[in-house]
Amino acid sequence: MKCHACFALVVVVAISPWTMAEEPIVFERFENSAVGNRQGRVDFVEDVVGWGGLQEPNRWSAAFDGQLDTSIDYGAEKRVKRSGCSVGAFVKVSERSGYAAIAADWSEDGENRSWAFVLTPRGGLRFDVSPDGSFQGGNKLETAGRLIEPGRWYHVAAVSQGSTSRIFINGKQVAERIRAVPGIFSDDQAHLKIGNVDHYATTGPRPWQGLLDEVRITLQALKPADFIRTQQAMPPSLGPVPERFVMPFTATDQKDAIAWQQQARRRLMQLVEQQQPRNSAKDVPLDFQIGAPQPKEGYTRYPASFQGNDGKNRIECWFTVPEGKGPFPAMLALHGHGGSRDAVFGSPGLYNGFADRFARGGYVVIAPSFPHREYCATMLWDLLRLVDILESRTEVDADRMGVAGLSMGGEWTMWSAACDLRLKAAVVSGWMCTTEGVFSVPNCECWELPGLVELMDVCDVELLIAPRPLLFESSEYDPCFPIKFTRQGFARVQAGYRVFDAADRVAQDVWPAGHQWHGKVAYPFIDKVLGGHAATAGE
Ligand SMILES: [Zn+2]
Repeated sequence: MKCHACFALVVVVAISPWTMAEEPIVFERFENSAVGNRQGRVDFVEDVVGWGGLQEPNRWSAAFDGQLDTSIDYGAEKRVKRSGCSVGAFVKVSERSGYAAIAADWSEDGENRSWAFVLTPRGGLRFDVSPDGSFQGGNKLETAGRLIEPGRWYHVAAVSQGSTSRIFINGKQVAERIRAVPGIFSDDQAHLKIGNVDHYATTGPRPWQGLLDEVRITLQALKPADFIRTQQAMPPSLGPVPERFVMPFTATDQKDAIAWQQQARRRLMQLVEQQQPRNSAKDVPLDFQIGAPQPKEGYTRYPASFQGNDGKNRIECWFTVPEGKGPFPAMLALHGHGGSRDAVFGSPGLYNGFADRFARGGYVVIAPSFPHREYCATMLWDLLRLVDILESRTEVDADRMGVAGLSMGGEWTMWSAACDLRLKAAVVSGWMCTTEGVFSVPNCECWELPGLVELMDVCDVELLIAPRPLLFESSEYDPCFPIKFTRQGFARVQAGYRVFDAADRVAQDVWPAGHQWHGKVAYPFIDKVLGGHAATAGE
């Protein structure tokens, strides 16, 4: 913002580059006043968009204090009555917290939802349009997170054209959706507001904290060329992917690759340690306890539990031992969001009973029920404790241990195999992707361990498993990880394995399905490395 003074001179002579067919129904320039009704504390401050403005200089913006009753209120009369409309604004948020409304005409009290354009807790944008005043999940458009960083100006716009919703940042489209139910509700009793919303996301007002400027609501689907700007374009939005990583995989020979692995492994474990201190098995004994045996087809299953790394919570799991004479190879079987030790044994379903299949295929299997945590990587210490348990069992051949998991379980598979060399093979199902790909659709942000996004592309983490055998299951229609990005990620991982002279030890199973376990390639792949017979154990 250092060139304010000279900029004011430039915009005085600037020619307006945009024309409008329609007068906006709301246009707040916040030049020392507001057209709407100021509620609570809205100050006018001289922090403005350095590159924005109109024919007149832009000297002031509006500072919203983030209190529940603060807004510019237009009452219940001012309405968007057609589904061709645009809401544009310059925004600079003070800090990322909960949902915060840029502008909205929306109240969940008495089914009075019309539309809302809000910042999400993860730093993305969301545009809701209701056809009938009630909530329609299929009408919600939400971008990935980390697009709007605190302390920076952006131009944001939500545009509805017919039944299509679009969101733009600095003139670039970042999200689009054809709404499930067309139309826009205009009989609502909510108040059209800037910097707040009557009642949103179940808990009442969602005030804006930070600056807003040049807020314009138009009854027309505007194009980026129609958004407010000067001769100078807005800087391109950087998006959530770092321009440069701290520790990317760039090695071209094995020696450098191994050195990178050691450094990267240390760093990743430090990042986890910063969130969740690790306790040694001496300080917090594993205390693995096994309950009464349950006979199954080809194996015995035991309810079991062990003391978690935190020393407070015990973690339940299933522990299975094949019929016959051991020691046996072993598999760690990991569930995803909303899953449990039962889910991975259940068939049919998301997991296609893969834990049961390995158990019947001659593997000792251990399958925990893990809680959901803010950062899923903080389960790492408990994952390593599971490997400790397997290693300590006389039923297990400790040289033949592997890991497999779906979704968040795929991520846990990546973390555990990356950090624990005792695991000799891994199947990462429904997780591997580039950082760009993970951010390209709304995913649970529990993967964003602080420091990880900056450290390396998330698919590089898989390279810590090299040269050990590694299979990815990447289904073609996985809504969580678009296939384009899993293919790009696999190409990167494959190139890395080539540096280890191990290109034949990494594979990707692509098949036409959604977010689920496949197994078709995985069972023979694991059998070949660990010596079980899951592939022929039958459905
Ligand atoms: Zn999660």
